[in-house]
Amino acid sequence: MRIGVPREAADDERRVSMTPDVTGRLAARGHQIVVESGAGLQAGHRDHEYVDRGAGITDAGGVYEVDLVATVGRPGPLERLAVPGAVLGLLRPLDDPAWVASAAAAGATAFAFELVPRTTRAQVVDALSSQATVAGYQAVLEAAVTGDRFYPMLTTAAGTLRPAKVLVLGAGVAGLMAIATARRLGAVVSGFDVRSAAAEQVKSLGASFIEAVEQPQDDAAAGGYARQLDEDQQRRVIEGLAGHVVDADAVICTAAVPGRPAPRLIEEATVEAMRPGAVIVDLAASTGGNCALTRPGETIVHGGVTIMGATDLASRTPGHASQMYARNVAAFVELLESDGSIDVEVDDDIVRGSCATHGGVVVHPAVLAALEVN
Ligand code: NAD
Repeated sequence: MRIGVPREAADDERRVSMTPDVTGRLAARGHQIVVESGAGLQAGHRDHEYVDRGAGITDAGGVYEVDLVATVGRPGPLERLAVPGAVLGLLRPLDDPAWVASAAAAGATAFAFELVPRTTRAQVVDALSSQATVAGYQAVLEAAVTGDRFYPMLTTAAGTLRPAKVLVLGAGVAGLMAIATARRLGAVVSGFDVRSAAAEQVKSLGASFIEAVEQPQDDAAAGGYARQLDEDQQRRVIEGLAGHVVDADAVICTAAVPGRPAPRLIEEATVEAMRPGAVIVDLAASTGGNCALTRPGETIVHGGVTIMGATDLASRTPGHASQMYARNVAAFVELLESDGSIDVEVDDDIVRGSCATHGGVVVHPAVLAALEVN
């Protein structure tokens, strides 16, 4: 199979979907990789490294004349995609399903990493998790450099400095990584999630868990995901968390419900009660934010509190983010292999579960449901 690796379409995207070592792995399995010149540069890879591992270098047109285009974000103009050809990437099928409908109309088969089932076998292709790991790490570093305090406790000749207090809201993949990272930097960390299983995971990382804000949700109920709270529950959570938010030097917001707007957890009045110099990093910015003041893609300062709505956190550690992503891509390609070639109709539950469009129509039930809601 011919696999194309384009330069990413988004201006602020520094990751690349394929690394030279993964190129070598796929080439050894008989695949031909074509990389758009310069695609890997911002992730630390020059063209010749890909060539050394068996890839060809091409221009912006050639990279789409393939069986499968592997991207990180959405590819460039849809008309460039070869038909019948497929695209694999983080395509945002649930929060902006209109694009998926356009991809179907253009005849493209689209595989979205966001639709990969959260099963044990699917972990190797779980790019949502690999990139959330990077984003959770990066969020804490951003908070640390933006804030006005040390994270560890320091005893110096100039006095003893207490450690920073970091609060992490949402303890999924990104949240747990944020907790682990803040702990490694020496902060005193607390976490909160609505799922019952999260408490043990938070505590196992050396953080405290904020209990009894709301009746915890049974983890098995929605396939491991949280359910959206009703208005009363949401109000109780906002009120129960407010004191903890005000007490924190940094709040890392990661709470999300797939296909829904981000749950609101911090009101404007709570931000106004925080101390100047405190920081909120809102990873949920692209779906509306956990904080009422978050602006996607922007950093604002409100009453001395910095609120970062960065939507490119994983892209700010592009080397390791791309390394993990490329391995997810290669594992997906291996699932598509059939008798030595690629078969996008291969009968595999992960492939079927990730397929958003095929044969000119939207095929995924969750995407169809999202299109109806929108
Ligand atoms: P996510 O990005 O959908 O959400 C992040 C976190 O926000 C979740 O932990 C969720 O419970 C929490 N949340 C939602 N609403 C909230 C609210 N109102 N207040 C506070 N927290 C709220 O989650 P994710 O990181 O993708 O992980 C979701 C689940 O999937 C977890 O149970 C995780 O362990 C599981 N998971 C399983 C696999 C696998 O088995 N292959 C892989 C990755 C994740």
